[in-house]
Amino acid sequence: MKFTQLGLNEHILRAIKDQGYTTPTPVQQKAIPAILEGKDVLAGAQTGTGKTAGFTLPMLNLLTKAPKPKGKRVVRGLILTPTRELAAQVAQSVEDYGKYLPFKSTVIFGGVSINPQIKTLKNGVDIVIATPGRLLDLMNQKALDLRQVEFFVLDEADRMLDMGFIHDIKKILKVLPKKRQNLLFSATFSKEIKTLAGGLLNNPTLIEVARTNETSAQVEQLVYPVDKARKREMLTQLIKDNNWNQVLVFTRTKHGANRLCGQLEKDGITSAAIHGNKSQNARTKALSGFKEGEVRVLVATDIAARGIDIDQLSHVVNYELPNISEDYVHRIGRTGRAGNSGQAISLVCIDEHEYLRDIEKLTKNSITKVQLKGYKPDPSIAAEPIQNGGGRGKRAGARNSSSRRKPKPRGHREH
Ligand code: AMP
Repeated sequence: MKFTQLGLNEHILRAIKDQGYTTPTPVQQKAIPAILEGKDVLAGAQTGTGKTAGFTLPMLNLLTKAPKPKGKRVVRGLILTPTRELAAQVAQSVEDYGKYLPFKSTVIFGGVSINPQIKTLKNGVDIVIATPGRLLDLMNQKALDLRQVEFFVLDEADRMLDMGFIHDIKKILKVLPKKRQNLLFSATFSKEIKTLAGGLLNNPTLIEVARTNETSAQVEQLVYPVDKARKREMLTQLIKDNNWNQVLVFTRTKHGANRLCGQLEKDGITSAAIHGNKSQNARTKALSGFKEGEVRVLVATDIAARGIDIDQLSHVVNYELPNISEDYVHRIGRTGRAGNSGQAISLVCIDEHEYLRDIEKLTKNSITKVQLKGYKPDPSIAAEPIQNGGGRGKRAGARNSSSRRKPKPRGHREH
């Protein structure tokens, strides 16, 4: 996807080009169209995902399009951040992306003299980026009128609450007009955040992205070494012994997904497969069966699993490791969401040791190895090249991925 496909105006596109960006990040791809449609958005995204441009670009676009209030400049966009540093960063982004637009913006935070801030506000600004405490001071001094805010962003909401800003936020919300568009960005979703979001957002679009190449701390990751021929037996045992009731299992290939699904059924475990050869209808049916608990195991390939959103999914199993390390991060990001904890289990045979090393390098994490009793790998078995797995590789356009050491063919995405 290109920035030109997102519906942003030419002045903004020119500013993006000046920044040297070519491709929108995942959070931008999801957030920008939703925001441009006028939706409220609840986004799970941390620093490093490109979230700032994700809300700034559409905000600028919308403010350009909406009729300008008559008379003096009034504050139309308000962005709250927990820290001064973040406020300054966001303000810089607003400047950079809005450099070909006629808006004036200013940043407001404590610890510096208030008088220049009062003066700037008196002269009129369209967009304010602020930390809550100083903003309240200025409100109390009647230096700031927020009654015409059209666009409100709460950035890093979880940190705001951790820092005790909830009362300040509530006071600020009280003076905003009822009709406005709201966005809430947070890295985590505690009960408090959900409550805050419930009161603030109107029928929000939910957006969740994994931080680039970083795995969630909420997910416990384990590797079970095992011989390839015994993986199915081990999986059945793990599911039955631990009484896992909702498990998302990843295979590398469509054929492998079908075969495993059939084998699990034979073992008495209800299963369904989703992959690119299944019709949309069949996928929807499999997914709803899984969500409703009629199907205990959903076997999926990477592409089919994108966008699957299951509340409180507790277990993800990598029956086979992906040859593209980033896919591991996406796979295990299916669990441990929205503040819940989860387990990501990888069944790893000797053929996959190189894949495992690549994943550990990418995620900068050494995954705990657990030897399940009775499944110690046979040392006489030598590693073989992975059939249909393609080479170890990186997806075109992916950032920060591990380099390919050998010129093997690129791994096919789905077979
Ligand atoms: P953020 O998560 O908003 O703090 O952004 C993280 C970094 O990514 C910042 O340095 C941005 O300048 C940069 N960035 C944002 N969007 C893109 C993009 N589409 N392509 C490349 N870099 C980007």
